[in-house]
Amino acid sequence: MSKFVFVTGGVVSSLGKGITSGSLGTLLKKRGFDISILKIDPYLNVDAGTMNPFQHGEVFVTDDGAETDLDLGHYERFIDETLSERNSITTGKIYSSVIKRERRGDYLGDTVQVIPHITNDIQEKIIQASEGHDILIVEIGGTVGDIEGQPFLEAIRQMAFRVGRENVAYCHVTLIPWLEAAKELKTKPTQHSVQELRRIGILPDVLVCRTSRPMDDSMKSKISLFCDVQAVIECRDQNTIYNVPISLHEQGLDEMILKFLNLPVGTEPDLSDWQRVVDAYTLPEDEVNIALVGKYVAHKDAYLSVVEALHHAAIARNVRINIHSIESELLEKNSDSSSSLEKLREFDGILIPGGFGSRGIEGMIRAAKFARENSVPLLGICLGMQVIAIEFARDVCGLTDAHSTEFDPDTPNPVIDIMEEQKNLSGMGGSMRLGAYPCDLLEETIAARAYGELHISERHRHRYEFNNAYKSRLEKAGLVCSGICTERNLVEIVELQNHPWYVGAQFHAELKSRPIRPHPLFDGFINAAVEFMRSKRG
Ligand code: GLN
Repeated sequence: MSKFVFVTGGVVSSLGKGITSGSLGTLLKKRGFDISILKIDPYLNVDAGTMNPFQHGEVFVTDDGAETDLDLGHYERFIDETLSERNSITTGKIYSSVIKRERRGDYLGDTVQVIPHITNDIQEKIIQASEGHDILIVEIGGTVGDIEGQPFLEAIRQMAFRVGRENVAYCHVTLIPWLEAAKELKTKPTQHSVQELRRIGILPDVLVCRTSRPMDDSMKSKISLFCDVQAVIECRDQNTIYNVPISLHEQGLDEMILKFLNLPVGTEPDLSDWQRVVDAYTLPEDEVNIALVGKYVAHKDAYLSVVEALHHAAIARNVRINIHSIESELLEKNSDSSSSLEKLREFDGILIPGGFGSRGIEGMIRAAKFARENSVPLLGICLGMQVIAIEFARDVCGLTDAHSTEFDPDTPNPVIDIMEEQKNLSGMGGSMRLGAYPCDLLEETIAARAYGELHISERHRHRYEFNNAYKSRLEKAGLVCSGICTERNLVEIVELQNHPWYVGAQFHAELKSRPIRPHPLFDGFINAAVEFMRSKRG
């Protein structure tokens, strides 16, 4: 039977519960346990697929095609495991499954209620996610006290009753704010948030206190005494999230949790790989400047995995990376463009990420053209790859009206189009190609060299595809289709021959990048950017 660690949050949101959960996961894994992590999101959406990146940040996609909260990305990157649909639940998912059963008559005439029916369903999904693992870490989104989080807190309270208190640990992540006027760290909000948890019957075992200043021992003892919590851990702001596992381990978090779970503490975890990541991050040999030309740059988490993947590659190449977000709309003709397009000269590489809707597309197309004509390394991801194809068709093949039917349904030259089989799938989100698909690479291409193998699998989240009707025409003009999903005959990667590094991938390469193992395309891109930067320097 599995054991459970429940991670709740108090005082404010955005305390880094996801990173704390992922860091704890990596520490426990390194002590020899089989770990998985479940994210509970108390919102009513069934999944994150319909959520606007401007509001909610990126949608993380798993191999099995689940559209999930971006915290799953943190988990995969920290514990280096592949997660699935089972690792994410929302209020919407729970209610729709309970209502479906009610309609089927499964409750045999019972009055269907939040307690016990919703709370039971939550517990069942927690148990399902734990199957086959020694420890399941469960992160409850939101903050203790939120109305919508209540059924989940009740369910995790009942879990102790169901599986035995000795098999669960409660970890509460809270804030110790610094009050400038008093020049003091304040513990009162934490006391109140623990009181709120206790009111519903959960007494946390560990408090992870997020703070901007060091907490002394007397403060920790005071929190311990007032909150009746034995273990108080300081989680100070770090210059990089990759330092969090090391810092939590130094304070004994992993050992404490294992003791609360009545598990042997095992061997000391080897954190040398994380240390290498931190060292490369903090003491780089050089630096590159990358332009991220996208639509959602205003939201700091909209391209979270892309940003992470860039950092992983930079770490592997021992360089600091400065990512300059550029709203693609600003590169458009009618927006004082000549000066802003020239601005692209300052960068060592350009990345065009994914996106939906027509806003800013022409700006991305101009950025792709700029990179092609000026030998600037370029990586296009999903929409970015489609933009590469459109730009190439227009400017190199002379199909000046070429477009994607997403943006111009009547274009005479739909180089990017929706495929017949996708059309038959209906509903918002329902017609997307989602999750992992295999891809075969063409030998002796940039892609094949980057991967070092010819058969790969990558994750998708898009509706439109490269239109094969234009394939030979674009190829004759010099575009190389270096990755093909053979089973569906779909173009997955395009690249240019007469350019140092110009690659577009229909899939979301960023989703499989890890701090200790950068993604081959990101690695190749950053390597090309480093070379470009050095060649400019002369
Ligand atoms: N909007 C494009 C499509 O649906 C690209 C999607 C994306 O970049 N994720 O095909």
